[in-house]
Amino acid sequence: MDPDVKYIPKMQLLSLDEYIRVIKIAMSLGINKLRITGGEPTLYPRLDDLLEQVGKLGLKDIALTTNGSIIRSQWASRWKSLGLNRVTVSLDTLNSQRKDAITRSHTSLTTVIKAIDALRDAELAPVKVNAVIMRGVNDDEVVDFADFAKEHEVDMRLIEFMPLDAGKRWEKRHVVSANNMLEMIKEKHNVIREEDSKTSTSMNYRFEEGNGRIGFIASVTQAFCGACDRMRMMADGTVRPCLFSDEEWSVRALLRGNASDDDLRQFFVNAMWQKSIGHGMDRDDFQRPEKTMSRIGG
Ligand code: SF4
Repeated sequence: MDPDVKYIPKMQLLSLDEYIRVIKIAMSLGINKLRITGGEPTLYPRLDDLLEQVGKLGLKDIALTTNGSIIRSQWASRWKSLGLNRVTVSLDTLNSQRKDAITRSHTSLTTVIKAIDALRDAELAPVKVNAVIMRGVNDDEVVDFADFAKEHEVDMRLIEFMPLDAGKRWEKRHVVSANNMLEMIKEKHNVIREEDSKTSTSMNYRFEEGNGRIGFIASVTQAFCGACDRMRMMADGTVRPCLFSDEEWSVRALLRGNASDDDLRQFFVNAMWQKSIGHGMDRDDFQRPEKTMSRIGG
């Protein structure tokens, strides 16, 4: 767990019933995919109850993002039976000596890799493994990540470094472009471009031989804001339509007041209309958002 993470007072956190009400409202507006992120969602004491309830709502896809620090194989199977479809694991290095410094967590690399294998074996597939590539930090591991995808039969996704890091050290010169990463991988592997769905945030490749895939998320050099239909809600009910805007509104007061379902629907429609046209990282006057990815939920 990131040592800079600040806990929100319990009273400010939404209850399970409030989460479910929001999800039902979102579904009535046409949202059919849900991703449970964090912080670290596996620390949420009522995760099983949440999965059990959302598993019955009829969503098309339920996914979860984790750092893989405390997953047991029996949990993976149980989550699958409750209705979870897919899991994404964040893992920014395959080098055990670097792990603590890069991830700011003391969980061993072996533990995270065992979790990835357990998730794959429980058919929470495809298991996606996300790595943010930073120049001078882990860009010498790009090919290792491709090898890892093949060996562990997972979808490895290499992400351009965005200004959402907890240390607030992002500078443009630290960004390794998706094209650059692809060139590095092509020196060792024959990869074939796949056809991506319209709302896919990654450009995906499979290996000519063997399983596993590689995807590139080029959020900095090839922004995909035009295809972005995501909306994020934090644990305290703060709703943020765009990762790179500090504009956000809380739905908590409405939930705890006498707001009708129509009032809540209108709240989400209004928030969605505020979505940014683009993140503006290419502009000289770009201002990084105040909140980090671990607060917003990736
Ligand atoms: S910057 Fe905002 S609109 Fe663009 S892809 Fe990210 S979240 Fe979506």
